[in-house]
Amino acid sequence: MPPTPALLGLDRAELAEALSSADRPALRARQLARWLYAGETDFEKMSDLPADVREALGERYVASGLVETRRVESEDGVVKVLAHGGDEESFECVLLPYADRVSCCLSTQVGCPMGCAFCATGLGGFDRNLSAGEILGQYFLLQSISPRRISHVVYMGMGEPLLNYPEVVKSIRLFKQEVGLSPRHITVSTVGIVPRIRELAQENLPIHLAISLHSTKDEIRNSLMPVNQKWPISEVLSAAKEYVNATGRKVTFEYLLIEGVTDTIDQAEDLATMVRGFPSLVNLIPFNYVSTGQGFKRPAPSRITQFRRTLESLGVNVTQRRERGHRIAAACGQLAGVHGGRFARRRSPSDLSVLS
Ligand code: SF4
Repeated sequence: MPPTPALLGLDRAELAEALSSADRPALRARQLARWLYAGETDFEKMSDLPADVREALGERYVASGLVETRRVESEDGVVKVLAHGGDEESFECVLLPYADRVSCCLSTQVGCPMGCAFCATGLGGFDRNLSAGEILGQYFLLQSISPRRISHVVYMGMGEPLLNYPEVVKSIRLFKQEVGLSPRHITVSTVGIVPRIRELAQENLPIHLAISLHSTKDEIRNSLMPVNQKWPISEVLSAAKEYVNATGRKVTFEYLLIEGVTDTIDQAEDLATMVRGFPSLVNLIPFNYVSTGQGFKRPAPSRITQFRRTLESLGVNVTQRRERGHRIAAACGQLAGVHGGRFARRRSPSDLSVLS
């Protein structure tokens, strides 16, 4: 039996339609939206909706279709939640409390077709896109755990957000319009889906874009990220420049440091040349252990420092990611969606046919 449809993820017009289809007044959509986008999942608690409306909705819909199946907490306060949207295909989201803010990392797909060689998610292949409601549902699941308001959202969990473009953009608009999050506190991370970067630049959404670069040499990037065979580094940089010009926002380049592969000084120098001349930030991510069978290693601290200093000496704006959640495999590249749920029936890793 298909899962009961969920109302979370619908915009005002769609909520009005849902009410009309239940023979209830469409003008209740505003009240309904206020409850849904405050995270309420029980129709009975939507106290300013008449009882007959609550009853009619409850007969046809659920508020949120997300079901939490497992929760793991790390001693540094990071919480990883495994959930499914009614079909038991599992995906993960992570709560990241900091001293000055609370952030969360959301998944956009069950699995991922991109097959990046350093990533646990990529190893399992792809199953399906998540709906806008399932993306927002992760936020509200995590908000129900967090004693502080989640003010920042990063689309960096399982999946490549720009391969699920319509639902990702819809979810961002709902975060802005209904949840009241500033788009400036929302980051979308991509491996470099060039046409979608260009499209995103025209959406009039001043979100932050993070591009996973990870090497300055096409032959190395090809081996780490199959997407590079479709859109090489030069095309990704040109799309990034267009994004900056259209939005006035700087772009972050994520750069994974893998010993002997991406941490060479000549790549630090190339990187400085590449990002010179447009507003950007380089975020260094020392490799987190993931058993990918590639034998990748995290560079020694001295090597990381040397790479960073080379960039700084060449005038690059550089940070190093604050790493959290290692012990519960919630750090970057470690989300696999297999804990406690059944492994999805996925297509094989690195299915570039999805890019055609
Ligand atoms: S790094 Fe991102 S795009 Fe690459 S396989 Fe992992 S989830 Fe997919």
